[in-house]
Amino acid sequence: VITQQALPSELMVSLRAESAWVVTAAQSVRRGETLARGMCFEHAAAAGTVISVHGDTLILQTGTDEVEVRLPPLEGSDGAAVLRRIQEAGIVGLGGGGYPTHLKLLAAARKRVHTLLVNAVECEPGITCDAALLEEDAACVHAGIDAVCALLGIADTHIAASDKTAFEHRSASTTVIRQPNPTDGAERYLLERLSGERLPADALPVDVGWVVLNVGTLHAIGRALQGFPLTTRVVTVFGENRWVRIGTPLTSFTAASQVCIGGELSGVDVSTAGATDKRTNSIQPARRFTNLPCIRCGACDLRCPEQIPVANLVSLSAIHPSAKHPSPKHPSATNSQVPLRTTASRCIACGLCNPVCPSGIDVAGVVRSLRDAERAQARRTSTTFRVEQRFQRHTTRQALEALAQAERRANRLARLDAESGTTPGAGDD
Ligand code: SF4
Ligand code: SF4
Repeated sequence: VITQQALPSELMVSLRAESAWVVTAAQSVRRGETLARGMCFEHAAAAGTVISVHGDTLILQTGTDEVEVRLPPLEGSDGAAVLRRIQEAGIVGLGGGGYPTHLKLLAAARKRVHTLLVNAVECEPGITCDAALLEEDAACVHAGIDAVCALLGIADTHIAASDKTAFEHRSASTTVIRQPNPTDGAERYLLERLSGERLPADALPVDVGWVVLNVGTLHAIGRALQGFPLTTRVVTVFGENRWVRIGTPLTSFTAASQVCIGGELSGVDVSTAGATDKRTNSIQPARRFTNLPCIRCGACDLRCPEQIPVANLVSLSAIHPSAKHPSPKHPSATNSQVPLRTTASRCIACGLCNPVCPSGIDVAGVVRSLRDAERAQARRTSTTFRVEQRFQRHTTRQALEALAQAERRANRLARLDAESGTTPGAGDD
């Protein structure tokens, strides 16, 4: 059963990249009205008055009018209209990624994907928001599935759900995959199980013909087609599933100064000065890390499903886990701007390395920080990286050619030696 979280007196809405506010302070808004436009739309999750707009944060004092403003009727029924609707409804990946869904679907359309995988397997035992949504409103999820399949020309749909999730499904058009172990719910593992092939570390599901969407995202698409923008989502709050308005202050849930956003394994501890956003799937008590020094026991290495040398990364970062984790520098690098490329980019943030650490280090947090720093660095320096790769390939090719030439010369000398019993001069060849 999904209950309603009480409406807070204020909502705190964050602006995302390449978007701009379209309201100003003191302006009255109705529920569902657009607050920001651009790459990512934001809407008022309640009627009220905008108190302030400072940089990326808007504070809305909520009122009592609960009549929801709907999006204008769809301009046609073609794919472009549906994509525009998904963008204007402010839909992003609700599984935790937060990537704009219209961009993901655009990439899927360009890659001509053949299968839709609906992920309703929470990766951690304590989170049940996806299962609850599927059980409570499967019809709206199916409306989202139908829209995505029509948009991308997909005939094949798989729904991956826990074996405990009971929901209505249309067996003619969808296949239900039961995933008994929630820690195997990461999309890479689901894909591996379904396609029989391991997704390369640097590839996305669309690269191999699959588009993976979270069940909450599809539900939001189903709602958007009815005219409702994304203003609320299901969140597992201390073990209970609730509909929570986007931008609800975290102090509405607890008097503590910190909470864990996400699961106990893979979540992130944050201050309760912030608010929920579209990616918030779970709120749990903040975790406790003793943060003793690493004893190099290797338990984290053994637990990592991606075979990442985790202990090495923890040592390499040489930082206290509660500190900020900068991009690591290669010990021999003289130029402090040269980052070390580690294996952290393979981290899927499953958090399995945390509970096994006898030193109580937030190992997953360390690796995740390295990964995020590396990804940001890679984005900034992608041209540099490509040039560097090309240079490496060029020097490797030269070295191989030199080796082959030396081998040919040695063979020729040996052959001449055997034929005449003499050694040719240095000018030969
Ligand atoms: S969080 Fe990352 S480093 Fe830790 S076990 Fe999972 S994949 Fe490995
Ligand atoms: S499990 Fe903890 S103590 Fe052991 S190697 Fe990993 S980080 Fe170090």
